[in-house]
Amino acid sequence: MAYKTVNPYTNELIKEYDETTDQELEETIQRAHDLYKTFKKQDIKERSKILHKVADNIRERADELARTCTTEMGKLLVEAQGEVELCAVIVEYFADHAEEMLKPEEVETTANGKAEIHHQSTGVIMMIEPWNFPYYQMIRVFAPNFMVGNPMILKHASNTPSSAQLMADVIEEAGAPKGSITNLFMNYDQVAETIADKRIQGVALTGSERGGSTVAKAAGENLKQSTLELGGMDPFIVMEDADMDDVEEIAWRSRIYNAGQECTSSKRFIVMDKVYDDFVERLKNNFSKLKPGDPLKEETTLAPMNSKKAKEELQEQLDEAVDAGATVVYGNEPIDLPGQFFKPTILTDVDRDNPAHTTEMFGPVAVVYKVSSQEEAIEVANDNPYGLGAIVFTGDSDRGAEIAEKIETGMVYINNFRYSLPELPFGGVKRSGYGREMSRIGLMAFVNDKLILKADKPDMDNLSSGLVASKNLDKK
Ligand code: NAP
Repeated sequence: MAYKTVNPYTNELIKEYDETTDQELEETIQRAHDLYKTFKKQDIKERSKILHKVADNIRERADELARTCTTEMGKLLVEAQGEVELCAVIVEYFADHAEEMLKPEEVETTANGKAEIHHQSTGVIMMIEPWNFPYYQMIRVFAPNFMVGNPMILKHASNTPSSAQLMADVIEEAGAPKGSITNLFMNYDQVAETIADKRIQGVALTGSERGGSTVAKAAGENLKQSTLELGGMDPFIVMEDADMDDVEEIAWRSRIYNAGQECTSSKRFIVMDKVYDDFVERLKNNFSKLKPGDPLKEETTLAPMNSKKAKEELQEQLDEAVDAGATVVYGNEPIDLPGQFFKPTILTDVDRDNPAHTTEMFGPVAVVYKVSSQEEAIEVANDNPYGLGAIVFTGDSDRGAEIAEKIETGMVYINNFRYSLPELPFGGVKRSGYGREMSRIGLMAFVNDKLILKADKPDMDNLSSGLVASKNLDKK
């Protein structure tokens, strides 16, 4: 069976799940489609009330949610607790703000009458989500689309089925009508069939380029709307005037949080030569203090990776990087525990033809570059196939903003840890995907921005050219 919960700390197989049958899939799509029609007749205020109850239920069941996630994919319990609370915050935000954001907008026009854009639901949306933030990823699609009135079908990662099912249950138990979000244990063929189904209007995927391009191709072939949140190799730029104590506090967390398995982890540190040695020393010092152990225990500060496969793949990438000439400044040694632990590692001397220069390493490996000017820092930051997020540290936030303007990513944080909040758009450019989740932009991802032009009578004086826009031509 493909869908399994295996604890990456103990390697124990906890539960296996049967794959969804074709009949279950058909029933789910039809139920969601019927719900879409019901939602169209429903006052949005009703869904806002339900979402508030969902937030309450997430908080009431926070402990169970956090423990399930930690046991299933290994993140530290404190991080799982943070993820669960963020889900409640996102749900509340859309419950409170979506109605206002979805109100019709008047457009100034030379056309005859009053023009308005009405933001309406489009139908059932498929979401395909990864294991690294099993709740947060699904909630950032669910909450806005529920308010819009788009029911959802969820295909979650094969190694986080328990978390996926639990959150879907928490939502339904809070009062969301059956079909609002249905978690299915689907195979790839069923995903392709679902995307092709005429009742499905769009697909949102968060995951790898491999998964993203397959799903985007299926969406394109079937003329379906899609959003892709893919990988990243986010730069963390340290200018010579940065407060190095602040940098120290943020840098190691930025790489180690979620055992380094985050799309927006800082994977490339680009450091000015004057502060380079100091930076590397401080990063090394902080990596060396991390304590691997049971992620459910408070004293543990280094979590296992999510699976044996992920750890093995990361080791292969690291070996390739070293073979290609990278220097190991710290790490690259085994951790003597049965869980899927990976010793945090620092690499330097990564040349432009080293695979580590352009390939995402989804675990606790930091690559550090030395640069000698602001221009060079920006050039190295942009010399990458990805464009998700970036962090810049400098003593002058205006200088930071100037650098941010030139960085080719979807998000830049200056003298800050990265934020992921419902009011802020999340997403990238280049091979990090397209579209945004969260914020008003994310809310609008799968809406019909319908133009309604209302007049009491047609403008008979301006018809000969056939185009309303050519009104002035008629008058010539
Ligand atoms: P992945 O292999 O692409 O898996 C993500 C999801 O896509 C899973 O549910 C997976 O199902 C499904 N999937 C993969 N290939 C598919 C296909 N051909 N057809 C249908 N479904 C398919 O990604 P991952 O390696 O587990 O996740 C890590 C990646 O996600 C990293 O690159 C990371 O940077 C990125 N990520 C991006 C963001 C963001 O917001 N930009 C956030 C988090 C993670 P199975 O598990 O069954 O294969």
